[in-house]
Amino acid sequence: MNRVIVSLECGVCRNRNYSTTRNKRTHAEKYKIKKYCPACRRHTEHKESK
Ligand SMILES: [Zn+2]
Repeated sequence: MNRVIVSLECGVCRNRNYSTTRNKRTHAEKYKIKKYCPACRRHTEHKESK
């Protein structure tokens, strides 16, 4: 099983707004994604956190 559940954390306020599954073999590096943060009330860059 190479699937891990990661949470995506807002880079601005550090809220954990989303969670996703990731395949470690195909996605070795940490990823960043622009998503809407309800705490910041705008789109911010979210990054993976553990
Ligand atoms: Zn935020």
